[in-house]
Formats: sequence, structure tokens, C-alpha cells
Amino acid sequence: MSREKIVVIDFGGQYNQLVARRIRECKVYCEIYSYKTDIETIKKMNPKGIILTGGPDSCYGENAATCNQALFELGIPVLGLCYGAQLMMHVLGGHVCKAPVREYGKILVDIDKNSMLFNNISEKTICWMSHNDYIETVAPGFQIIAHTADCPVAAAQWEEKKLYAIQFHPEVLHTTEGTKMLSNFIFHICDCRGDWKMDSFVENSIKEIRKKVGKGKVLCALSGGVDSSVAAVLLAKAVGSQLTCVFVDHGLLRKNEGDEVEEVFGPHGPYSLNFIRVNAQKRFYEKLKGIDEPEQKRKIIGEEFIRVFEEEAKKIGAVDFLVQGTIYPDVVESGLGGESAVIKSHHNVGGLPDYVNFEEIIEPLRDLFKDEVRKAGLELGIPETLVYRQPFPGPGLGIRIVGEVTAEKVRMVQEADAIYREEIAKAGLDKSIGQYFAALTNMRSVGVMGDERTYDYAVALRAVNTIDFMTAETAEIPFSVLTKVMNRIINEVKGINRVLYDLTSKPPGTIEFE
Ligand code: GLN
Repeated sequence: MSREKIVVIDFGGQYNQLVARRIRECKVYCEIYSYKTDIETIKKMNPKGIILTGGPDSCYGENAATCNQALFELGIPVLGLCYGAQLMMHVLGGHVCKAPVREYGKILVDIDKNSMLFNNISEKTICWMSHNDYIETVAPGFQIIAHTADCPVAAAQWEEKKLYAIQFHPEVLHTTEGTKMLSNFIFHICDCRGDWKMDSFVENSIKEIRKKVGKGKVLCALSGGVDSSVAAVLLAKAVGSQLTCVFVDHGLLRKNEGDEVEEVFGPHGPYSLNFIRVNAQKRFYEKLKGIDEPEQKRKIIGEEFIRVFEEEAKKIGAVDFLVQGTIYPDVVESGLGGESAVIKSHHNVGGLPDYVNFEEIIEPLRDLFKDEVRKAGLELGIPETLVYRQPFPGPGLGIRIVGEVTAEKVRMVQEADAIYREEIAKAGLDKSIGQYFAALTNMRSVGVMGDERTYDYAVALRAVNTIDFMTAETAEIPFSVLTKVMNRIINEVKGINRVLYDLTSKPPGTIEFE
């Protein structure tokens, strides 16, 4: 039995990996290809179905990403999502133009017609929209199957040809019945069996790493976070003693974290990695002096990281590979996710100075989402406490301190964050909230403490729930818990006289502050 496959064609949408992921969740194998891939290549893959993703262009614009009309004549079912839907109509003779009303966010969609795509879907259903253009008239042969108050064509089909177009994003979880729609496409329209398992990611990665590394020496950047820990253990299993893990304590870690990392990965921990801890706090603070622009901070921290590794590598001797725990959302936000637009640079991705002496970078988790990384971690036998650890950005507290970073500010945010985490755990909320942390704002304001005027910093508490870290909603923490945290921070952390709670969701915010 041949392996069935869905091909996702990437037009640069922010959510394109989510599409692939939903399909994998349906136990169907899938691969993503750029829209520039030629039709013969696609045909040779003999896919059961093709999905066209969203994208930033306007399909009628000059130099817009496009596709060959023949794609719709292969007899293979095609599902266009947002840009993909607009493009399908445009290429086949419909009319796409700027929408009089752009739609963004959760929108109520009315399903008008029976369609296999909407099998078992409510007649009125909430869908996630994000578009400026719209389909004014469908291409000949198509039938409108859904609309919204502002969008006459929220979905269309040409049933006999198995062509489907939807303006919204079923891959985003805010589309309440989106996964069901995608599985309708995969199982009822493409006739997939769904017998592929996400099982052997670990096994395959180990094999691939061994093949790639050969007898080479590998240096792993260990931050103690979930991603780099999983990457480190994966590498340790693949190449054992060829691997050296360098843990840079850049002085931007959470309270006590350096020692905790050493306990797990150091010589007394369960893994037999070559472990080197570098205490580089002073170096980083020095470099960050006077710098308040977030992108610059990220770059400095990232570069200093590489420098430290370089120095360690020299001590170890020639090193052939550098391992990083980059995961998919990092790749998308850095604008390297195929065709997507740049949101912000990530220290793990790109931006590597060209003087680095490593032959090549290995990023074994590059295609995975956070929860998939955790699954891989469990499969590797990493303890749950570590696998479910709070996510922590590579540049550390450096980007949870708005403005200039100083040792004093690091102390404040570390203390406040530790109190916050302690109280959240005490309230029994630590398992139910996705990510929560304290950040130091750059705002100082007047207060009064012990009858004395203070002029101190405000700390912001953040807590969000998210499944895939692409979108996030603010967590509702009981006021009594927040009040307790506020009281403790004000009383125990010198230099802070105000505590704020951040209500912003993602989008428009990001999860981190900078
Ligand atoms: N750029 C197109 C629009 O604005 C498609 C957007 C998308 O795919 N999310 O309508």
C-alpha cells in the first residue's frame, strides 16, 4: 500500500504550518512546498489532495504569487484557503478585488448549501478571518456555499471537479469547527485512510543526525529551556560522546535556573553529556549597557552567545556542527518560514554572524510546534517536570526587561517572577495556564511606602493560554491571586512600587514583551 500524501502549497501565510499540522493530526502524511514548485513535480508526488495556503499578496496585483491553471485540472481535489481561495477564483475566471469591508478576527459564517466540506458543521459557525481582499464573483462552474455579513463568498465549491475555496482559516483553532472541515476534505473528498503515525519523528531524526554528523564533533547550545533540552537529549542519543553541551549562564535566566539546569544536565544528572557551564553574566551586561532597542538587544545577546560558543569550541578543538533548539514558530516569526513576512528576528534563527567557525547548524526541531516538541521530549524519556517547564525565550530576561538591561533590573524581574510563579503554583493554576511570567516595564512612577515617597519601576504580569503559540488568549487569573502577588512583590522586591496585569491577546500582542 503506497503512503497517501497531501501536498500543501505555501503562498506565505502566517498559518501555513498549522495547516500541515492539522493534517498530521488527522494521521495523514503531508508536505509543504513553495508555490514556485512546478506542476510536474507535484504531479509526480501523486498527492491525494492539494491545499493552497493563505498569503500576504493580492492575487490581482503585479508580481503576486500565483499558480499554474493546470493545477486545477489534474483531477486531484484542491482546497484553497484565504489567499489560496482568492487565487483559485482569479486563475479560473472569477473576480477578486479589494473588499469594501475587511474582516479580521472571529466572524459568524452562514453555511448556505449542503457540501461535503461542511458535513456535520453547524449552519452558523464561528470562523477566523484575516483578509483585505475578497471574492466578488466566483469563477464559472462554482457555487457559493457560505457567506458572512460582509463577505458574499465565504466559501465556494465546484463539486464535480472537487475544487473548494474558503475565505476563512479552518487551520486556526479560533475557527470552532475548522478541524472538522479539514478532516471532511481529507477523508470525504480526498478519500484518505488516515493510517500514518507521527510516531517515528525521534527515530528518524536520530538516523538523520547520525548520517549527517558522521564522526564529526557537535556542540550544543543548551539554555535549559524545553526546546534546547529536547534538542540536546536527541543529539546525545544520536552521537553520544561526540557531543558537548555548553550552557551559557548569560545572567538573564530566571531565579536559580542556572543551578537547576546544572543539576539535570551536569555530571550528577541522569544524562551522560559532556557538560560545560560558562558563567558569562558580566560580559552580557557589559554589552547590553545603554541599549534599549529590542531588536538590537536580541542581536547582541544572540551574537554574544555565538562568541561564547566559539571560544568554547576552540577549547574543545575543531567543531563541525552547532545544534540549536529552533522550533517552527521561531522560524515563522523570523520570516524564514518559506514565504512568510518577517515579524521579529529570533536569536536562534538567521542573524548568525559570518565569522562563526562552525561548519553547519543542526536544528532538529525546526519543523515542530511547542506541543510536538514536548511529545518528542516525552518519547525521549525526558522527565515530565522538564518537558512541561515554562517556555523561556532564548534572549532570556533581556527581552522581559523593557529598555536598558542592568544587573539591578534583572534582580527585580527575577524576584517578581519567582513570587508570581510561586503564587500561581500555590493557587493550583500552574497546570492550567499556558505561559505566565513577570516583565519589567521601563516606566517609573511615584508611590508612597511607609509614608515615604518612592519613584520606582512597574512590573507587568502576563499570563496567556495557547496551544500552538501562534495565537494566544489572556488567562483569567482570580483577582484574589493577583492581589496576593501584587502585595508580595511590592513588599519583597526593592525597586518596584507598582504591579500591572497585561490583558493583551496575541495578535495584536506577542507573548513576550519585546
Ligand atoms: N492577502 C489576501 C487578503 O488580504 C489574503 C490574506 C490571507 O491569506 N490571510 O485578502
